[in-house]
Amino acid sequence: MGNEGTQIIGAEFLLSAPDIRRAPDHKLAEIAITGRSNVGKSSLINALCNNRKLAKISKTPGKTRMINFFEVRVRNPDFTFCLVDLPGYGFAKVSKSEQERWGSSIEPFLANRENLTAVGQLIDARHPPTKLDLQMREWLAHSRLPVMTVLTKADKINRNQQEEARRCATRMLLTPYDPAPVLFSSTKKWGIEELCTLIAEMIAPQADSMSATVEGGKTG
Ligand code: GDP
Repeated sequence: MGNEGTQIIGAEFLLSAPDIRRAPDHKLAEIAITGRSNVGKSSLINALCNNRKLAKISKTPGKTRMINFFEVRVRNPDFTFCLVDLPGYGFAKVSKSEQERWGSSIEPFLANRENLTAVGQLIDARHPPTKLDLQMREWLAHSRLPVMTVLTKADKINRNQQEEARRCATRMLLTPYDPAPVLFSSTKKWGIEELCTLIAEMIAPQADSMSATVEGGKTG
């Protein structure tokens, strides 16, 4: 191993699925990314994968409520995993039935997807976690998956506010088992290496030399 840290060296779009039944039939370990709409999810995926066009796919009309799967290659340690872009929650103007549809596609995915190894929850660093963020965290607690908390748009606040955001998220969201929140900025490229390292830690125990796979479902 050189001095370089963990790095994503390539990513490609696999497919979009409306729910767990149409999710890819593969053995790759998956990490899902969730957050309210406009929190900076697409920007984070693109910054992380160093590809400005990658998550744009999820923004094309009709696909905004889909679950999008990306195959991602990592170096140092070397493995391949699957990044899962979940539909954003908390659209200002969606009908009750649409909210229900959102829940009915996401909940089974979080509860039953065997490949799912960890979840990254994005929170806007400028504001305390919202009611919906807390509700999502509760669902995640039921799934018993480790959760990475990522504070987005950190470039929009000063250093003191960043530390306060970290303390606030820790107090409101974290269990003693969750890793410390990562301050992230897609525009300034902050937090990328930290997040890559965290991802590697989350899935490395299941990784063989080439790809992070899940054999026989979730452990633990
Ligand atoms: P999504 O709906 O969660 O996928 O959010 P987007 O990635 O589309 O971002 C929503 C808006 O926030 C866009 O105007 C982005 O340019 C902006 N944005 C996202 N991430 C950052 C960031 O790290 N810093 C700043 N300053 N703006 C950001």
